[in-house]
Order: sequence, then C-alpha cells, then structure tokens
Amino acid sequence: MTRSDAGMRTGNSPSRRTVLGAGTMLAAAASTGGAVAQDSAGPDLLGQIKSARRLLFKGGIVLTMDRQTGDFADADILVENGTIREVRPEIDTTDAVVIDAKGRILLPGFVDTHSHSYQGLLRGTLPNGVVLPDYDRDIQKNITQHYTAQDAYNGVLITALGMLDLGTTTMIDISQVAHTREHVDANLQALRDSGMRSLFALARGIGPQAQYPQVMKELLPSYFSSSDQLITPALATSTDAETFKSARELGVRSVLHTRLNSEPLLALSRAGLLREGDVFIHCTHLNEQAWRVIKDTGGRTSHSPSVEMAMGHGYPAIQDAINAGVRPSLSCDHCATVGQDMFGMMRTTFNLQRLAVQQRQRGGDTNAPSLLTCREVLEFATREGARCAGLDHKVGTLTPGKEADLLMLRADDLNIWPLNNAVSTVVNLMNPGHIDAVFVRGKPRKWGGRLVDVDAPKIRSEVARSRDNVLQKADFKIDLMA
Ligand SMILES: [Zn+2]
Repeated sequence: MTRSDAGMRTGNSPSRRTVLGAGTMLAAAASTGGAVAQDSAGPDLLGQIKSARRLLFKGGIVLTMDRQTGDFADADILVENGTIREVRPEIDTTDAVVIDAKGRILLPGFVDTHSHSYQGLLRGTLPNGVVLPDYDRDIQKNITQHYTAQDAYNGVLITALGMLDLGTTTMIDISQVAHTREHVDANLQALRDSGMRSLFALARGIGPQAQYPQVMKELLPSYFSSSDQLITPALATSTDAETFKSARELGVRSVLHTRLNSEPLLALSRAGLLREGDVFIHCTHLNEQAWRVIKDTGGRTSHSPSVEMAMGHGYPAIQDAINAGVRPSLSCDHCATVGQDMFGMMRTTFNLQRLAVQQRQRGGDTNAPSLLTCREVLEFATREGARCAGLDHKVGTLTPGKEADLLMLRADDLNIWPLNNAVSTVVNLMNPGHIDAVFVRGKPRKWGGRLVDVDAPKIRSEVARSRDNVLQKADFKIDLMA
C-alpha cells in the first residue's frame, strides 16, 4: 500500500481527493464508462493535474505566510497557468481540475538558501566530519576536482530530486564544480531537468579550463535571457574586491561564505561594493559592525545550523541576525554529514535559539531576547528564504499573483492527530513523511507521496556509478558500517 491510498485511511467517502470540476468530471466519466472514483495517486487524476490550465485546491488549511492575505482554517486556492489567482473560501469554478485538500495543510514550498548540490553523490561520506580538516581536505581539495560533467549532472540531479521529495521547492545552488563549460552546462541541465526552482550561483571551478567568472557573461544572454523561468543567475564570490567587482559588472547578486573574520566584509563596504540582495552565508563570527553593514546595505543571510554545530563552523548566528534587524533564512549546506530536510532545520533553529535565551534568563539576564515562535521559524524557511534568493516577488508566500510553489501536508495522520495548531504541527510535529504533494509553478513534482516522472532505478544506478567514479579517482574509501 502506498501512503497515498486515501481510501484506506479515510474510509470510503467517494474519492475525497478526486472531486473533479464539472467539465472534468464529465470527461472522466465518459472515459471510464461512468466511474469517476480514482485513487489519489492514480494516473488519471495525476495526468489531468499535470496538463490542467486551472487547478483548484479545495477545502485546505491554508498557511499563506503572507500577513495581508492571512491564513484560513478552510479555504480554496485557484491556480491558473502556474500562478495563484485566488485564495479564499468557497471559490466556484467549473473549468478547473479540483484537488480535494480536506485534512491537508497547504503552505509555500521550503526555500534552502545554501546548497552545494553537486555533492549529492557524497551523502553520508563524512559521517563524523568537521569542516577543518575533513571537509576541506577530502571534499574541497580532493574529491571535487575529480568530477566529470556527467558526475556533476548526477550529483545536482539527485540533490534536487531529494530536496523536492523533502518539500524544498527552491534552492540557492552554489556550484563549486564549474571546472569546464561542460560542467556548468551539466549543472544547469540537472537543475532544469529536476523541475526545481533555483538561484544558480556560479563559483570558481578547479583546473585550467575553469572560466570564472567569464562563463557567466556567456550564460546571461543564453540561459538567462528571460526572467520568466525557474533558474536565475548569481555569482558566488569570495570576500575580495575583485570577485565582487565582477558580480557588479555582471549585474547579479553576490553569494558568499563569510565566517571567521569581519574585516574583509568591512573593506568591501568601504569600497562601496555591497548591494542590496547580496547573500552572506554562515556569518558565525561577525562583529556588530559587520552586522550593521549587512543590515544597512540590504544584505541577506543564510544559516545552516545543523552543519555549523556538527562540523565546527561556529555558533549559528540566528540571534546575531535577529539582533541586527536581519531576518535569517535557513539552509542545509551539503549532505556529506547532515541531511537536507527543512523540517529538521526548522526544529534545530527553534530549539537552539530557545535554549540559548532560556539559559540567559536562568543566569539572571533580564535583557535576554524574545523566544522564537513557530511562526517565525516557518517564515525563515519560506518567506525569508525566498527573499534571500531574490525570488520573493515570485514565491515564498501563497499570495495571489505569485507562482504556485506549494506543499500539501497530511494533517490527519494518526501520529499528529488531533490537529490543534497548524503552525506548530508543521514546525515541530511533522516530518517529510507527511508530505503528500509538492507543486512547483503549478506542476506536480510529488503526488501521493511519490516523486512524479522520475525513473528511480535508472537514477540510482547512474548516481552510484558517478559516486564510484569520483571516489575511486580521489582514492577516498567509504565504509558502509563505520
Ligand atoms: Zn557552503
């Protein structure tokens, strides 16, 4: 039995998830000799959803994450050509494919603002690793250089599909595998083939054929000539003036790691090179002056609390960002040591911040900051993520006019029932196993608990072959049981 056998879970109410719009119902009835009942994961309904011009999500618990639009205990979402048209109770329409969302929480897809996606091949290869020396020595200075373009494709694809499966619909991909133009093309092709939304930040590749940042000059008029697509461009820079000048000349945002030292960032500020929308990753050891610069220049920050705590990047700077008036976004960084599950990232953030605040209170600190709420954490994982990626005009909230990147979460599972608070349920009670469906720009990428249009056996074998290739060349041994 699949997780999507709605009839098994909810009794025999006639096909709750398959209530069709009048026109569609007639067509379905005609094609099935009058029967319209279908399994929620059945190919007929999924086929209709895939090709529908209009979709109506009916009767869901809607967390729009948009304060103006508000949230709804029971509302419908009308999507037309991938764009959200209306969010309100009782939308009547006769020409939409209807998805029964009763017992489902609808919310914006998660946004992961820092991923080295080519490393999808390396899941779990550093089970107990730290950033220095393990990650630096084994992945950055050794394994990465051995990637072929095909390996880059397979690594990025498996990461993107994994993220979609886990409810992440947008990522910032910091490509550090741009060794040749073919590698760059392969990276972009994998993002495109996955159907995920991304900000592609070109980083410096390894070897004599790496064309950083020149290759971005070629990509802008070819890959990125239209802003009406799922992939948008950025430049991954260092904290030096030269790479920042390149980003400014190219007219794209800069995405960079900054961790141990505030001075380079302050120098960039003095040189007038920072721009609104630049993305600062980790930020674990920045001083107050550097935080003020980020705030004043309109910078965004990305925090990877699990990796930062487990691998020694430093104390996650969630509170530093909040103190500086910068709303943080969340990210998983890479999968060599921790998973890329945004439910886990939200929970880590919630627990860490509240532990720190309450320790201060216990120590007699009467100026301790406020405790983070579940809603704030959910904002970090959705709205603030979209803002960090420069995509908040398109996604991040379920606001009419935005593109329909959304999750349908099963809120009636026995392991979280009864439902008493939707936000808390998502942040602290749910896990990726509650994801029923994932949509990107109105297209189903996951339906009935399964990825859509993915040839898993083929992908498994190609990813394993690439994994073997890079690890063999790197002479890096893995131990299944260590
Ligand atoms: Zn990183």
